[in-house]
Amino acid sequence: MSRAWNFSAGPAALAEAVLKRAQAEMLDWNGSGASVMELSHRGKRFMELAAATERRLRRLLDIPSNYKVLFLQGGATQHFAQIPMNLAPEGGTADYIVTGIFSKKAASEAAFHVDARVAATSESTDFLTLPPRPAWRLNPQASYVHYTPNETIRGLEFHEIPDVGDVPLVADMSSNILGAPLDVSRFGMIYAGAQKNIGPSGLVLMIVRDDLLARPPRPIAKILRYAEQAANDSMLNTPNTWGWYLAGLTFEWIEQEGGLAAMAERNARKSAMVYDTIDGSNGFYRNDVERAARSRMNASFVLHDGALDSMFLAESEAAGFIGLKGHKAVGGMRASLYNAVSPAAVEALVQFMRDFAARHG
Ligand SMILES: *Cc1c(COP(=O)(O)O)cnc(C)c1O
Repeated sequence: MSRAWNFSAGPAALAEAVLKRAQAEMLDWNGSGASVMELSHRGKRFMELAAATERRLRRLLDIPSNYKVLFLQGGATQHFAQIPMNLAPEGGTADYIVTGIFSKKAASEAAFHVDARVAATSESTDFLTLPPRPAWRLNPQASYVHYTPNETIRGLEFHEIPDVGDVPLVADMSSNILGAPLDVSRFGMIYAGAQKNIGPSGLVLMIVRDDLLARPPRPIAKILRYAEQAANDSMLNTPNTWGWYLAGLTFEWIEQEGGLAAMAERNARKSAMVYDTIDGSNGFYRNDVERAARSRMNASFVLHDGALDSMFLAESEAAGFIGLKGHKAVGGMRASLYNAVSPAAVEALVQFMRDFAARHG
């Protein structure tokens, strides 16, 4: 059996060391005589794992003490709806920066619970650019400003944190969290589905500033309230213990690899390899995203002749690559280059791309 070169957008590759460790511990975790999946989340062993996992994440991201870390469920999408319920009063307003399919969906799901105003959008360029900051029409009365630092589908990334004044900034970092060092203090809230850069699907990581948790609650079910989750160690009900455990293994792996600075360096190198191959292909491959906003996590590209798409996919699969098909909404190809994708995998990919272009150019 051999492992494929995995470029899936999500659920995505996990570090091989993490998978091997989980495999080795599958039947008997931590001397418990059971798999971590078979143990109470309220037992001493799991409570210790939860605490250690949070400590590790706090170290990695240097999370200030006035932020809580939550391990939730529901995927990022559920939180598109839950965030306005928690952060905005009944009849309140929030600003949304719409730069792709996920931020657009975040705004439309939020609109059931808040006056979700689109303060800036790049939809007119088909989400190939970022709306220039001076053109944003921010409302100082907004309860928060929501944006998506990395739009996974096009591969469009903010390389700087936008300044939005005193209104709390809320970021969906599902596809770029832990890809580079981050100044958490610039945000009111950060949240991420785990299945791209953290672990398996079914887990959502949230980092939220205390003053946002202290906002007066709406009359919503307790299970939907972040402040209640924070007060109960994210254990209002049975959490995704397996996902939590794998997240912890991933955080440990990142530390062993040299932390977020090392991840950033590797990710810059990996994405440069792919973009250099595209740009050096004499038009055989093309990436139409505004240069300054190219994503380090998701490199999308089209072939000069769409009739070659199915051949590219078939040949790449035969050569041991998976997950290269672009999102159905935009077509083409996409190589997702999350932390767990090794430089060796990217080296193999760009070699394949050059060979393919030479054979079909
Ligand atoms: C994948 C992704 C989502 C959707 O996550 P789910 O966990 O499937 O709800 C949302 N936002 C971004 C930026 C993503 O990459």
